[in-house]
Amino acid sequence: ATPTAVMVATGKGAENGMLMRRGAALEALARADTVVLDKTGTLTIGRPQLTDLEALNGNEAGLLALLAAVENHSEHPIGTAVVEAARARDIALPAVSDFAAEVGFGVHAKVDGQMVQVGAAHYMEKLGIDVTPVADTAQRLADQARTTIYVAVDGALIGLAAVADPARPESAAVVAALKKRGLSVAMVTGDQAATANAVARSLGIDEVLAGVLPDGKATEVERLQAEGRRVIFVGDGINDAPALARADVGVAIGSGTDVAIEAADAVLMRADLYALRDAIDLARKTHRVIR
Ligand code: ADP
Ligand code: MG
Repeated sequence: ATPTAVMVATGKGAENGMLMRRGAALEALARADTVVLDKTGTLTIGRPQLTDLEALNGNEAGLLALLAAVENHSEHPIGTAVVEAARARDIALPAVSDFAAEVGFGVHAKVDGQMVQVGAAHYMEKLGIDVTPVADTAQRLADQARTTIYVAVDGALIGLAAVADPARPESAAVVAALKKRGLSVAMVTGDQAATANAVARSLGIDEVLAGVLPDGKATEVERLQAEGRRVIFVGDGINDAPALARADVGVAIGSGTDVAIEAADAVLMRADLYALRDAIDLARKTHRVIR
Protein backbone atom coordinates (compact mmCIF):
# COMPACT_ATOMS: atom_id res chain seq x y z
CA ALA A 1 0.00 0.00 0.00
CA THR A 2 1.26 3.46 -0.85
CA PRO A 3 1.48 6.18 1.82
CA THR A 4 -1.41 7.92 0.08
CA ALA A 5 -3.55 4.76 0.25
CA VAL A 6 -2.82 4.44 3.96
CA MET A 7 -3.71 8.09 4.52
CA VAL A 8 -6.98 7.71 2.62
CA ALA A 9 -7.81 4.55 4.56
CA THR A 10 -6.99 6.22 7.86
CA GLY A 11 -9.39 9.03 7.00
CA LYS A 12 -12.04 6.53 5.98
CA GLY A 13 -11.49 4.60 9.21
CA ALA A 14 -12.17 7.74 11.20
CA GLU A 15 -15.38 8.25 9.22
CA ASN A 16 -16.38 4.70 10.12
CA GLY A 17 -15.69 5.29 13.81
CA MET A 18 -12.12 4.08 14.38
CA LEU A 19 -9.35 6.61 14.98
CA MET A 20 -5.78 5.44 14.30
CA ARG A 21 -3.39 6.85 16.88
CA ARG A 22 -0.30 5.24 15.36
CA GLY A 23 0.66 4.87 11.72
CA ALA A 24 1.41 1.17 11.89
CA ALA A 25 -2.02 0.31 13.33
CA LEU A 26 -3.71 -0.18 9.95
CA GLU A 27 -1.17 -2.69 8.64
CA ALA A 28 -1.14 -4.58 11.94
CA LEU A 29 -4.95 -4.76 11.82
CA ALA A 30 -4.70 -6.27 8.33
CA ARG A 31 -2.20 -8.92 9.43
CA ALA A 32 -3.79 -9.96 12.75
CA ASP A 33 -5.13 -13.50 13.15
CA THR A 34 -6.44 -13.30 16.73
CA VAL A 35 -8.75 -10.89 18.55
CA VAL A 36 -8.73 -10.84 22.36
CA LEU A 37 -11.52 -8.82 23.95
CA ASP A 38 -11.92 -7.71 27.56
CA LYS A 39 -15.34 -8.67 28.97
CA THR A 40 -16.52 -5.93 31.30
CA GLY A 41 -17.14 -2.64 29.50
CA THR A 42 -15.95 -4.00 26.15
CA LEU A 43 -18.19 -6.99 25.23
CA THR A 44 -20.65 -5.93 27.92
CA ILE A 45 -22.09 -2.49 28.55
CA GLY A 46 -20.05 -2.21 31.74
CA ARG A 47 -22.85 -0.88 33.90
CA PRO A 48 -23.88 -3.86 36.05
CA GLN A 49 -27.16 -3.92 37.99
CA LEU A 50 -27.76 -5.64 41.32
CA THR A 51 -29.96 -8.69 40.68
CA ASP A 52 -29.75 -10.91 43.78
CA LEU A 53 -29.27 -10.78 47.55
CA GLU A 54 -29.11 -13.74 49.92
CA ALA A 55 -28.43 -13.14 53.61
CA LEU A 56 -27.58 -16.19 55.69
CA ASN A 57 -29.67 -14.72 58.57
CA GLY A 58 -32.55 -13.74 56.25
CA ASN A 59 -32.00 -9.98 56.66
CA GLU A 60 -31.41 -8.88 53.06
CA ALA A 61 -31.82 -5.16 53.80
CA GLY A 62 -29.14 -5.38 56.48
CA LEU A 63 -26.84 -7.22 54.09
CA LEU A 64 -27.33 -4.57 51.40
CA ALA A 65 -26.71 -1.75 53.92
CA LEU A 66 -23.33 -3.20 54.94
CA LEU A 67 -22.35 -4.10 51.39
CA ALA A 68 -23.28 -0.67 50.00
CA ALA A 69 -21.60 1.19 52.86
CA VAL A 70 -18.29 -0.43 51.93
CA GLU A 71 -18.80 -0.21 48.14
CA ASN A 72 -19.68 3.47 48.47
CA HIS A 73 -15.92 4.11 48.56
CA SER A 74 -15.12 1.83 45.60
CA GLU A 75 -14.59 2.97 42.02
CA HIS A 76 -15.39 -0.46 40.58
CA PRO A 77 -18.60 -0.70 38.48
CA ILE A 78 -19.80 -3.40 40.91
CA GLY A 79 -19.59 -0.80 43.69
CA THR A 80 -21.67 1.66 41.70
CA ALA A 81 -24.34 -1.00 41.06
CA VAL A 82 -24.59 -1.89 44.74
CA VAL A 83 -24.79 1.72 45.95
CA GLU A 84 -27.47 2.56 43.35
CA ALA A 85 -29.54 -0.43 44.51
CA ALA A 86 -29.33 0.67 48.15
CA ARG A 87 -30.31 4.21 47.21
CA ALA A 88 -33.27 2.95 45.15
CA ARG A 89 -34.50 1.10 48.26
CA ASP A 90 -33.94 4.10 50.58
CA ILE A 91 -31.49 2.11 52.69
CA ALA A 92 -29.38 4.27 55.00
CA LEU A 93 -25.66 3.45 54.88
CA PRO A 94 -23.70 3.09 58.14
CA ALA A 95 -20.45 5.04 58.50
CA VAL A 96 -17.27 3.23 57.48
CA SER A 97 -13.56 3.74 58.09
CA ASP A 98 -10.29 2.18 56.92
CA PHE A 99 -11.57 1.46 53.39
CA ALA A 100 -9.15 -0.36 51.10
CA ALA A 101 -9.50 -1.89 47.64
CA GLU A 102 -7.61 -5.00 46.61
CA VAL A 103 -7.52 -4.68 42.83
CA GLY A 104 -8.77 -7.84 41.15
CA PHE A 105 -10.15 -9.26 44.41
CA GLY A 106 -12.55 -6.93 46.23
CA VAL A 107 -12.78 -4.31 48.96
CA HIS A 108 -12.87 -4.12 52.75
CA ALA A 109 -13.63 -1.51 55.40
CA LYS A 110 -14.53 -1.19 59.07
CA VAL A 111 -18.16 -0.71 60.12
CA ASP A 112 -18.95 -0.41 63.86
CA GLY A 113 -15.50 -1.72 64.71
CA GLN A 114 -15.98 -4.85 62.59
CA MET A 115 -14.13 -5.60 59.35
CA VAL A 116 -16.50 -6.09 56.41
CA GLN A 117 -14.96 -7.97 53.48
CA VAL A 118 -16.58 -7.88 50.03
CA GLY A 119 -15.43 -9.52 46.83
CA ALA A 120 -14.92 -12.46 44.53
CA ALA A 121 -14.72 -16.14 45.52
CA HIS A 122 -10.94 -16.02 45.10
CA TYR A 123 -10.85 -13.10 47.58
CA MET A 124 -12.73 -15.18 50.19
CA GLU A 125 -10.36 -18.05 49.50
CA LYS A 126 -7.37 -15.76 50.03
CA LEU A 127 -8.91 -14.64 53.35
CA GLY A 128 -9.59 -18.24 54.37
CA ILE A 129 -13.37 -17.68 54.49
CA ASP A 130 -15.63 -20.71 53.94
CA VAL A 131 -18.19 -20.08 51.17
CA THR A 132 -19.76 -23.55 51.02
CA PRO A 133 -23.06 -22.34 52.66
CA VAL A 134 -23.87 -20.41 49.47
CA ALA A 135 -22.09 -22.66 46.95
CA ASP A 136 -25.28 -23.92 45.22
CA THR A 137 -26.75 -20.41 44.89
CA ALA A 138 -23.43 -19.06 43.61
CA GLN A 139 -23.21 -21.77 40.95
CA ARG A 140 -26.76 -21.10 39.77
CA LEU A 141 -26.11 -17.33 39.54
CA ALA A 142 -22.80 -17.77 37.69
CA ASP A 143 -24.48 -20.10 35.17
CA GLN A 144 -26.87 -17.20 34.47
CA ALA A 145 -23.82 -15.04 33.59
CA ARG A 146 -24.14 -13.07 36.85
CA THR A 147 -21.11 -12.02 38.89
CA THR A 148 -21.32 -13.14 42.51
CA ILE A 149 -20.20 -10.91 45.39
CA TYR A 150 -19.45 -12.52 48.74
CA VAL A 151 -19.87 -10.53 51.98
CA ALA A 152 -18.13 -11.46 55.24
CA VAL A 153 -17.83 -9.84 58.65
CA ASP A 154 -14.68 -10.44 60.67
CA GLY A 155 -13.85 -13.46 58.53
CA ALA A 156 -17.29 -15.14 58.62
CA LEU A 157 -19.55 -15.24 55.58
CA ILE A 158 -22.88 -13.40 56.04
CA GLY A 159 -24.29 -13.54 52.51
CA LEU A 160 -24.08 -13.30 48.79
CA ALA A 161 -25.12 -10.74 46.19
CA ALA A 162 -24.97 -10.78 42.42
CA VAL A 163 -24.85 -8.29 39.58
CA ALA A 164 -25.64 -8.71 35.89
CA ASP A 165 -23.93 -6.74 33.16
CA PRO A 166 -25.73 -7.18 29.84
CA ALA A 167 -23.77 -7.74 26.62
CA ARG A 168 -23.64 -4.90 24.13
CA PRO A 169 -26.41 -5.39 21.55
CA GLU A 170 -23.86 -5.89 18.72
CA SER A 171 -21.35 -8.13 20.56
CA ALA A 172 -22.60 -11.52 19.31
CA ALA A 173 -22.92 -10.31 15.70
CA VAL A 174 -19.42 -8.81 15.73
CA VAL A 175 -17.90 -11.99 17.18
CA ALA A 176 -19.59 -13.97 14.39
CA ALA A 177 -18.29 -11.49 11.78
CA LEU A 178 -14.71 -11.75 13.11
CA LYS A 179 -14.85 -15.56 13.07
CA LYS A 180 -16.23 -15.47 9.51
CA ARG A 181 -13.12 -13.50 8.53
CA GLY A 182 -10.96 -16.33 9.85
CA LEU A 183 -9.94 -14.63 13.10
CA SER A 184 -9.68 -16.53 16.39
CA VAL A 185 -11.71 -14.77 19.06
CA ALA A 186 -10.92 -14.95 22.79
CA MET A 187 -12.34 -13.19 25.86
CA VAL A 188 -10.27 -12.20 28.88
CA THR A 189 -11.61 -11.13 32.27
CA GLY A 190 -10.87 -10.85 35.97
CA ASP A 191 -14.29 -12.34 36.57
CA GLN A 192 -14.70 -15.97 37.67
CA ALA A 193 -14.69 -18.82 35.12
CA ALA A 194 -18.34 -19.90 35.49
CA THR A 195 -19.68 -16.38 34.84
CA ALA A 196 -17.17 -15.76 32.04
CA ASN A 197 -18.05 -19.06 30.34
CA ALA A 198 -21.76 -18.24 30.44
CA VAL A 199 -21.14 -14.85 28.83
CA ALA A 200 -18.78 -16.36 26.22
CA ARG A 201 -21.30 -19.08 25.34
CA SER A 202 -24.03 -16.48 24.72
CA LEU A 203 -21.67 -14.56 22.40
CA GLY A 204 -20.26 -17.51 20.46
CA ILE A 205 -16.73 -17.15 21.90
CA ASP A 206 -14.87 -20.45 22.29
CA GLU A 207 -11.69 -19.35 24.04
CA VAL A 208 -12.05 -17.90 27.57
CA LEU A 209 -9.29 -16.63 29.85
CA ALA A 210 -11.02 -16.05 33.22
CA GLY A 211 -9.83 -15.14 36.70
CA VAL A 212 -7.01 -13.14 35.16
CA LEU A 213 -5.41 -10.74 37.63
CA PRO A 214 -4.98 -7.10 36.52
CA ASP A 215 -1.37 -7.49 35.37
CA GLY A 216 -2.15 -10.86 33.76
CA LYS A 217 -3.90 -9.64 30.61
CA ALA A 218 -0.62 -8.50 29.03
CA THR A 219 0.94 -11.86 29.93
CA GLU A 220 -1.88 -13.65 28.09
CA VAL A 221 -1.25 -11.49 25.01
CA GLU A 222 2.46 -12.30 25.19
CA ARG A 223 1.71 -16.01 25.49
CA LEU A 224 -0.37 -15.92 22.30
CA GLN A 225 2.34 -13.92 20.51
CA ALA A 226 4.92 -16.50 21.59
CA GLU A 227 2.77 -19.06 19.73
CA GLY A 228 3.24 -16.91 16.63
CA ARG A 229 -0.14 -15.25 16.74
CA ARG A 230 -0.70 -11.61 15.76
CA VAL A 231 -3.02 -10.15 18.33
CA ILE A 232 -5.59 -7.37 18.35
CA PHE A 233 -6.50 -6.56 21.97
CA VAL A 234 -9.70 -4.61 22.67
CA GLY A 235 -10.31 -3.07 26.10
CA ASP A 236 -11.53 -0.07 28.05
CA GLY A 237 -10.16 -0.21 31.58
CA ILE A 238 -7.08 0.96 33.46
CA ASN A 239 -6.10 -2.66 33.91
CA ASP A 240 -6.32 -3.22 30.14
CA ALA A 241 -3.57 -0.66 29.44
CA PRO A 242 -0.56 -3.05 29.60
CA ALA A 243 -2.29 -5.54 27.27
CA LEU A 244 -3.29 -2.73 24.87
CA ALA A 245 0.34 -1.63 24.75
CA ARG A 246 1.67 -5.18 24.37
CA ALA A 247 -0.68 -6.32 21.58
CA ASP A 248 0.19 -5.98 17.88
CA VAL A 249 -2.78 -3.61 17.80
CA GLY A 250 -4.36 -2.21 20.96
CA VAL A 251 -7.89 -0.93 20.37
CA ALA A 252 -9.47 1.15 23.16
CA ILE A 253 -13.17 1.85 23.55
CA GLY A 254 -13.52 5.63 23.22
CA SER A 255 -15.81 5.86 26.25
CA GLY A 256 -13.17 3.99 28.29
CA THR A 257 -10.56 5.32 30.67
CA ASP A 258 -7.91 7.81 29.50
CA VAL A 259 -5.19 5.39 30.56
CA ALA A 260 -6.53 2.77 28.12
CA ILE A 261 -6.81 5.29 25.28
CA GLU A 262 -3.24 6.51 25.87
CA ALA A 263 -1.91 2.94 25.66
CA ALA A 264 -3.86 2.05 22.50
CA ASP A 265 -2.89 2.20 18.80
CA ALA A 266 -6.46 2.86 17.73
CA VAL A 267 -9.65 4.10 19.38
CA LEU A 268 -13.30 3.28 18.69
CA MET A 269 -14.85 6.73 18.75
CA ARG A 270 -18.30 5.39 19.55
CA ALA A 271 -18.81 2.47 21.91
CA ASP A 272 -19.80 0.33 18.94
CA LEU A 273 -17.88 -2.85 18.11
CA TYR A 274 -19.08 -2.81 14.48
CA ALA A 275 -16.38 -0.17 13.93
CA LEU A 276 -13.77 -2.83 14.78
CA ARG A 277 -15.10 -5.17 12.09
CA ASP A 278 -15.24 -2.33 9.56
CA ALA A 279 -11.69 -1.20 10.38
CA ILE A 280 -10.38 -4.74 9.83
CA ASP A 281 -12.12 -4.90 6.45
CA LEU A 282 -10.70 -1.54 5.47
CA ALA A 283 -7.20 -2.45 6.64
CA ARG A 284 -7.29 -5.73 4.70
CA LYS A 285 -8.43 -3.95 1.55
CA THR A 286 -5.71 -1.30 1.88
CA HIS A 287 -2.91 -3.80 2.48
CA ARG A 288 -4.10 -6.51 0.09
CA VAL A 289 -1.18 -5.79 -2.26
CA ILE A 290 1.47 -6.78 0.26
CA ARG A 291 -0.43 -9.42 2.26
P1 ADP B 1 -13.13 -7.24 35.91
O1 ADP B 1 -13.60 -5.83 36.11
O2 ADP B 1 -12.59 -7.52 34.54
O3 ADP B 1 -14.14 -8.26 36.32
P2 ADP B 1 -11.25 -6.82 38.11
O4 ADP B 1 -9.81 -7.20 38.03
O5 ADP B 1 -11.58 -5.38 38.28
O6 ADP B 1 -11.86 -7.48 36.80
O7 ADP B 1 -11.91 -7.63 39.32
C1 ADP B 1 -11.88 -9.03 39.36
C2 ADP B 1 -13.02 -9.52 40.22
O8 ADP B 1 -12.79 -9.09 41.58
C3 ADP B 1 -14.37 -8.97 39.83
O9 ADP B 1 -14.97 -9.71 38.80
C4 ADP B 1 -15.10 -9.08 41.14
O10 ADP B 1 -15.56 -10.40 41.33
C5 ADP B 1 -14.04 -8.80 42.18
N1 ADP B 1 -14.07 -7.39 42.60
C6 ADP B 1 -13.19 -6.42 42.30
N2 ADP B 1 -13.55 -5.25 42.85
C7 ADP B 1 -14.69 -5.48 43.52
C8 ADP B 1 -15.59 -4.66 44.30
N3 ADP B 1 -15.39 -3.36 44.51
N4 ADP B 1 -16.67 -5.28 44.84
C9 ADP B 1 -16.91 -6.57 44.64
N5 ADP B 1 -16.14 -7.38 43.92
C10 ADP B 1 -15.03 -6.85 43.37
MG1 MG C 1 -13.27 -3.59 31.07
